[in-house]
Amino acid sequence: MENIKVTGSLIWYYYICKREVWLMAHGIIADQENPNIDLGRFLQDYAYQRDKKEVSLGHIKLDILQKKDGQVIVGEVKKTSKFAQSAKMQLAYYLLELEKNGIAGSGVLMFPKEKKREKVELTDEMKKELDFVVRDILRIVYEPRPLPPKKIHYCKNCAYSEFCWS
Ligand code: SF4
Repeated sequence: MENIKVTGSLIWYYYICKREVWLMAHGIIADQENPNIDLGRFLQDYAYQRDKKEVSLGHIKLDILQKKDGQVIVGEVKKTSKFAQSAKMQLAYYLLELEKNGIAGSGVLMFPKEKKREKVELTDEMKKELDFVVRDILRIVYEPRPLPPKKIHYCKNCAYSEFCWS
């Protein structure tokens, strides 16, 4: 398979389900009818459209909310704060990629349905963790097969649930 690039979404799924990381990276098409996906897309596209500006940084795309004194604020919209660790590390990954490009920044997680926002600052600990996670994602993705499915709470909302469990 061609060279895999680690995206923010793969970081997010890594903390939820490593089987899903493999399925996504291999382009296995999930159930497009899943209403959770549509809501996710809707929130992504419309909820904060007024403020944000999508920019590409190599293979990743991120939403810049503000730029002030050489610092940028990156936003990430999620429909629930239930998977806070995933969301935080995804955003931290964007901040790390910005830092590698000489741009300092901080992040804001936004949960419009819950009317909540949370600030995220990149720490040395997060950088160390991301270094491991990126390598582990590549290890998972280059395996010939995905890990077997494991029932977790997220499965019932997962676009792959039919694929995994029928
Ligand atoms: S249905 Fe469950 S096991 Fe399958 S990819 Fe989704 S979260 Fe992972």
